[in-house]
Amino acid sequence: TFTLAIVGRPNVGKSTLFNRLVGRKLALVDDQPGVTRDLREGQAKLGPLRFTVIDSAGLEEATDDSLQGRMRRLTERAVEQADICLFMIDARQGVTPTDQIFADILRRKNAHVILAANKAEGRAGESGWLEAFSLGLGEPIRMSGEHGEGMEDLLSTLMPLADAFAARDAETAEEAPETDVDLGWSGEETEDDEDEPAEDWRPTEKRPLQIAVVGRPNAGKSTLINRILGEERLLTGPEAGITRDAISIPTSWEGTPVRIFDTAGMRKRAKVQDKLEKLSVSDGLRAVRFAEVVVVLLDVDIPFEQQDLRIADLAEREGRAVVIAVNKWDLATDREARLQALKEAFERLLPQLRGAPLVTVSAITGRGLDRLHEAVVKAHEVWNRRVSTAQLNRWLMGMTEAHPPPAPGGRRIKMRYMTQVKTRPPAFVVMTSLPEEVPASYERYLVNGLRSAFDLNGTPIRLMLRDRS
Ligand code: GDP
Repeated sequence: TFTLAIVGRPNVGKSTLFNRLVGRKLALVDDQPGVTRDLREGQAKLGPLRFTVIDSAGLEEATDDSLQGRMRRLTERAVEQADICLFMIDARQGVTPTDQIFADILRRKNAHVILAANKAEGRAGESGWLEAFSLGLGEPIRMSGEHGEGMEDLLSTLMPLADAFAARDAETAEEAPETDVDLGWSGEETEDDEDEPAEDWRPTEKRPLQIAVVGRPNAGKSTLINRILGEERLLTGPEAGITRDAISIPTSWEGTPVRIFDTAGMRKRAKVQDKLEKLSVSDGLRAVRFAEVVVVLLDVDIPFEQQDLRIADLAEREGRAVVIAVNKWDLATDREARLQALKEAFERLLPQLRGAPLVTVSAITGRGLDRLHEAVVKAHEVWNRRVSTAQLNRWLMGMTEAHPPPAPGGRRIKMRYMTQVKTRPPAFVVMTSLPEEVPASYERYLVNGLRSAFDLNGTPIRLMLRDRS
């Protein structure tokens, strides 16, 4: 099971959702011993899911002028206790400066965030919901805690995560991995630690590689998936309904156990069920959340359309490995020039995906699928890669010698050491003096350097700067 924290500024409707999830009986949770008054905790029930929910709503009674500070501390505590944060804004108010502060806290804490635009019943919340995209925390769920709207979207967002956490629980019960990530570095070269830290709970070998094939309608997603499955398994009848079993298909792809998330099939079934509009909002997001590797399938004749760019960007922000596949290559003439143009467009339009592999395929003839398979497996491997602290620090020394960080106002920025804190995707912490003064361009220099030095192509890289003077 997992823990969900509901966070957000006062009055956005956190308690209402909390009460809806926990039910009336447990709303008396305050009276139970051991429950602090400022963070309420209860057992939530949503469809088939059972989980723990934390509500930071006690804040709303706070009236003293240190509200901001308390709010921040409480939110941080809730975030630390939770596996997932549901960050709520008021869709009727839109995004306020206080919301921005919360968003920053969540980003800095590297929380797994589900964004919810609440009070969005009827048409009233439309613009606030759209505004919420600007927080850069992914696609917001439109909901009304009061009216119980949006609960299905919340459920379908939580489902794949719940699955993953169940797998984690099974894992930790077996192996009990270390939970602490040691950031203390004594100066001598540390032994390369092969043990995965706690957050890397999704095992690589035991579970099939999870792939989502995304792209605009008619890019050839169904054709490709059918090719991989080697049979017409996708086009099940409308009566099959949109069940999770039907949209995530286990198979073996050239010997690799995989599970493919089928957005194309979802849409086809949805059309029959006349739910197209509803699904199109969230199916891309669901697919990306489900996936370890996202294959962005482009149509060679209309590559890098708005929709493709959006989903590719989403995959990056969600920290997924990404492979770009250009389909219908059988139709392409003047291939060399075409490929060149595609690569240039890719670099220009998706700089955030720098280094991600681009392969040409024909889903219809099957050509290039071996290279696609190879690229997917490689991207997955890179996404899971761990670089030793010793290697990283040798590298960092070389980088800062080749290009010393700037000296703002004569104060020298000194980068002390770095370590990888997480995989899937790889995340690194650099201990430095004056972390706020490090320019974005210097961070890019380090990220790009990491990419080429350690062959980290096809995965997002997270770099965090921490103060250590
Ligand atoms: P989806 O909406 O992304 O699932 O797209 P479909 O798989 O339904 O394919 C849309 C159309 O493109 C169909 O007419 C396919 O036959 C065609 N198509 C798919 N892949 C290829 C390909 O590699 N080459 C060519 N020439 N046509 C393709």
